[in-house]
Amino acid sequence: MHNHPIKIKGARQNNLKGLDLEIPLNQITVVTGVSGSGKSSLAFDTLYAEGQRRYVETFSPYARQFMERMDRPQVDAIEGIPPAIAIDRKDPVRTSRSTVGTMTEITDYVKLLYARLGQLYCKKCGKRVVPETPEHVWQKLKKLPAGSEVIVTFPYPYPNAGVSVEQVCMELGSMGFTRIYHNGRILSLEEWQPRKERTIHVVADRLRMGRPDHLRIVDSVEQGFRFGGGKIDVWVGDKKRLSFSRGLECARCNITYHTPLPNLFSFNSPIGACETCRGFGRNIDIDQDLIIPDTSLSLEQGAIKPWGDGQKLRMEFGDLMDFCRKEKISTDIPFRQLTKTQKKKIIDGTSSYYGIRGFFQWLETKTYKMHVRVFLSRYRSYTICHDCNGTRFKEEPLLYRLGKYTIGQVYAMNVQETGDFFRALKVPPKDEASRLVLEEVNNRLRYLKDVGLGYLTLDRQSRTLSGGEVQRVALASALGSSLVSTLYVLDEPSIGLHPRDSHR
Ligand SMILES: [Zn+2]
Ligand SMILES: [Zn+2]
Repeated sequence: MHNHPIKIKGARQNNLKGLDLEIPLNQITVVTGVSGSGKSSLAFDTLYAEGQRRYVETFSPYARQFMERMDRPQVDAIEGIPPAIAIDRKDPVRTSRSTVGTMTEITDYVKLLYARLGQLYCKKCGKRVVPETPEHVWQKLKKLPAGSEVIVTFPYPYPNAGVSVEQVCMELGSMGFTRIYHNGRILSLEEWQPRKERTIHVVADRLRMGRPDHLRIVDSVEQGFRFGGGKIDVWVGDKKRLSFSRGLECARCNITYHTPLPNLFSFNSPIGACETCRGFGRNIDIDQDLIIPDTSLSLEQGAIKPWGDGQKLRMEFGDLMDFCRKEKISTDIPFRQLTKTQKKKIIDGTSSYYGIRGFFQWLETKTYKMHVRVFLSRYRSYTICHDCNGTRFKEEPLLYRLGKYTIGQVYAMNVQETGDFFRALKVPPKDEASRLVLEEVNNRLRYLKDVGLGYLTLDRQSRTLSGGEVQRVALASALGSSLVSTLYVLDEPSIGLHPRDSHR
């Protein structure tokens, strides 16, 4: 570990007056001073802003535009600054979306790992989707037997109503392309008789394999990608067609995928959360076993519990009796002896009758009344969301895998298993940011195990934990964040602490 200090030269942020200073690493440095003397301007607006900026720089340009980015601080130079990782130390609010993973912030880091290192598998054919570079294409083509004829083409939209054939020919001609590939033949633009094709294949290059043609192929492919919107085809011999795509696209199934953002892997974000359960993993629905607890009762005897029997004179009970008379449904035999269709009509309703479901839907609109909420809670229960199977995620994030596992599978494993998995995970060499993030995950998992919580799963709901478990989770996440090589900037960290605890 290097021990050079952080050097700041000429800091002029806010009210700072060209400050020069050095801050030693691997130590706690305290900045004190009277109010308004520029403590925060130095610590946050200069030091933290620069560290954060450099951390964000390690992401792809596309991902960067969605990340919080602080303004470049007013300073002549800052040297030797480690990446600063910002974690809001908000109170761990125990909402129903809060899990062991979110409480320990493990999910904040795991989502970064999936966005950076996750491997996409096509939702249709299940094959790996790899963005193809010209170099990839070359690696494939160089395996062809010497002497094979190879034609590189790029797709170009077929002239539509607004654009004439002449215009397309002129456009292509002005870019230096004069030939197209059609039905196994190369045609000049003059020879070309447009028919019903939806796209045309414009020839970017034609060559025979064999000579050292690495550069030429890479060039032609690069050019094809540029004019073909990131797509090319390579035709080998008479029949063989190889499709390549520069974006995240399964060329086989013609499905395009978005570049993954970190929040795609967060069930607390609308980008990643299952739309049906909004990231809760479960849905609340009316529970038939609670509504009709005793199926040996007849409808007259009050089989539908929320509607009571004839004595309570509920309007819904009267409506039910009227409906049964019209539909010729017996009201004096046990509910369980009714036919499937009859039960379904009573539960789901018909076009002219609201049924149990319609009744509860109407109640849903009245939940501002306390007694309605109490009433509802007696007849509803949670069920695993059938769309995401309780993983809380949309389909797309679950197409990505780290090693063998999707993010949903990782969260369903217990701490012990998750720890084994992440410890074995390989980060590409030189990917310093991923290594740091992985270390954060591993630290927290190790501490969770050390405090005896190896049996918990990361997707375990916080509010189902015992008091003792909650305390130990909190302890593990505090210990886990003591990472080396990261710049921590804390503002008055002892605020809100009991004097008795401040020494810890
Ligand atoms: Zn596919
Ligand atoms: Zn769901």
